Amino acid sequence: MTRVFNFSAGPAALPEPVLRQAAAEMLDWQGSGMSVMEMSHRGKEFIAIHAEAMTLLRELLAVPANYKILFMQGGAIAENAIVPMNLLRGRTGADYIDTGEWSKKSIEEAGKYCQVNVAASAKDTNYTTIPARASWKLDPNAAYVHICANETIGGVEYHFTPDTGDVPLVADASSNILSRPLDVSKYGLIYGGAQKNIGPAGLTIVIIRDDLLGRSLPVTPSAFDYGLQAAADSMLNTPPTYAIYIAGLVFKWIKAQGGLTAMEAHNRAKAALLYDYLDSQDFYSAPVARDCRSLMNVPFKLQDAKLDDAFLKGAQARGMVQLKGHRVVGGMRASIYNAMPIEGVQTLVAYMKEFEKEHG
Ligand code: PMP
Repeated sequence: MTRVFNFSAGPAALPEPVLRQAAAEMLDWQGSGMSVMEMSHRGKEFIAIHAEAMTLLRELLAVPANYKILFMQGGAIAENAIVPMNLLRGRTGADYIDTGEWSKKSIEEAGKYCQVNVAASAKDTNYTTIPARASWKLDPNAAYVHICANETIGGVEYHFTPDTGDVPLVADASSNILSRPLDVSKYGLIYGGAQKNIGPAGLTIVIIRDDLLGRSLPVTPSAFDYGLQAAADSMLNTPPTYAIYIAGLVFKWIKAQGGLTAMEAHNRAKAALLYDYLDSQDFYSAPVARDCRSLMNVPFKLQDAKLDDAFLKGAQARGMVQLKGHRVVGGMRASIYNAMPIEGVQTLVAYMKEFEKEHG
């Protein structure tokens, strides 16, 4: 068996020990005689799996007692609608910060439910920066302020937590949740799809402050009502059981690595390897401003785009896949989530040097 270095932006690489354990338990989970996939979500086995995953996530992120964790479905795209449906609380508008493709999607969708005020935008830098907090034109009557904590396509990430006063801060953290410690108490709501740092697609994580629960629009589908899901311990409908089981194994793996502080050190070391090399030569370039470069998604370009195909082919031949950049940005993108070992980034940088020597 050969495992590749998978630089996919998501669904993305998972820690190998997690996959091995899942494989070992596939036919018979801990003497139950069943696969986790075959279990009733109301049975004692799955209830234990679900509860343990919740507890581990709460522990890893040090989620305060006045916040609920919800395991939902629909992904971040669904959250773009679910957030306004639940958080408007009688208000008519919400503030959004536009930092790239995923914020644009959030803005577009929220516009179906409320008046969207784009309080700041990085459009004028072609989405290579995060607008300074001082430039944001926030509306004091907004129901919430929405940010995309890490733009998976553009590779820009917040390295500060914006102060939004009494207006709840909402973050789409799909592509950087669990990559480093996070002060949950600064947010009203954090959400993210699982398929980057957490587990299989199909599970959506929501962390929400208690006072924001229970005030949804009457049209809100029950399955997407945070208050109802919180009251039902995220079991109002059948949850994505297998994805929750894998997420639980990933949480255990992160804890065994030393938790989020260790993850951050590991992720900073990997990102530094790549960015330091990118900054040291002219054959490749990194478009994003230094102070907001993503630790998770590193876009870069070859000086001569005609060499892109040859670069990708050579990478594939060396066991490195999914390096093609998103079509909106072009070039390359290396997604280096928690599960990417440093050897993957070392192999990539060595190959980039070799390719530069040959074609530069
Ligand atoms: N937001 C961000 C930051 C993302 O990276 C993605 C997926 N790549 C989405 C939203 C959309 O997520 P989903 O496809 O799970 O709905």
